[in-house]
Amino acid sequence: MGFCLGVEEAVNLAHEVAQNNKDKSIYILGMLVHNEQVIRELEENGIKTVNEEDFIQGKVKFTENDIVILRAHGSTKEIYGMLVEQKVNIYDAACIFVKRIREILLKKMDEGYEILFIGDKNHPEVKGIISYGKDIKVFESLDELKKSDIDKNQKYYFLTQTTFNKYIFNDIKNYIKENFTNSDIGLTICGATFERQLAIEKLAKEVDVVLIVGGSNSSNTKKLYQIAVKINPNSYFVENKDELNLNWLRGKNKIGITAGASTPEKSVIEIERKIRGKYNND
Ligand code: SF4
Repeated sequence: MGFCLGVEEAVNLAHEVAQNNKDKSIYILGMLVHNEQVIRELEENGIKTVNEEDFIQGKVKFTENDIVILRAHGSTKEIYGMLVEQKVNIYDAACIFVKRIREILLKKMDEGYEILFIGDKNHPEVKGIISYGKDIKVFESLDELKKSDIDKNQKYYFLTQTTFNKYIFNDIKNYIKENFTNSDIGLTICGATFERQLAIEKLAKEVDVVLIVGGSNSSNTKKLYQIAVKINPNSYFVENKDELNLNWLRGKNKIGITAGASTPEKSVIEIERKIRGKYNND
């Protein structure tokens, strides 16, 4: 549990920028990380979160020398270009693993591959990365890939969203190896996601109830829940202590708690306190 490297660096960068630029307007385009509590704390430090769509549609405009921070899971090439045109100071807080996928994408395109992407086409990370290519198709499941009419004999390079479910990825990888014989596939699920998925698999088997703590739009947290609930039906996704229903724990002995990579440790500790408090008072 606790912040992964990419989230920690993005949050530290934002607070540092705020600290050093008290006289300037500071914005983040999109949620820096997918967690409401983190966003609230940034706002308290004078950093405003701006909706990306509003910016693209021109409803929000920055003035020269404003500071704009780009979030941990990256932005699109189009947004970057618009910011350069508006002459703002850009701080790119994109995680190194997201940047790495962008670099692989450009390199593989140079080598003559057509890129295909495995991930959630509506997730900002995926939108951001594929914007650096041209008409890249995105597949969310093995079923989608099987049903597509793409020519299996072409030379493709498959890339994967950093927070993708490793089990679904393994099935897709096996299918690609058997059916796309001229293609290659890169494992680009990040280490933090991978480790947390392994840990939840183990934990879910050992406890009576699993609590997964994180933002409702956090991709890596949702994947932890998907894995846990398959193993242990008494798995619950909560954003904070207020969402925890203590009735879920009635008559249970072992409670496992885990959290997504963008969940502050504080949220987990508050949940633990609520549970322990309840039982101490009983
Ligand atoms: S989940 Fe992985 S890719 Fe996303 S910010 Fe954390 S380390 Fe980076």
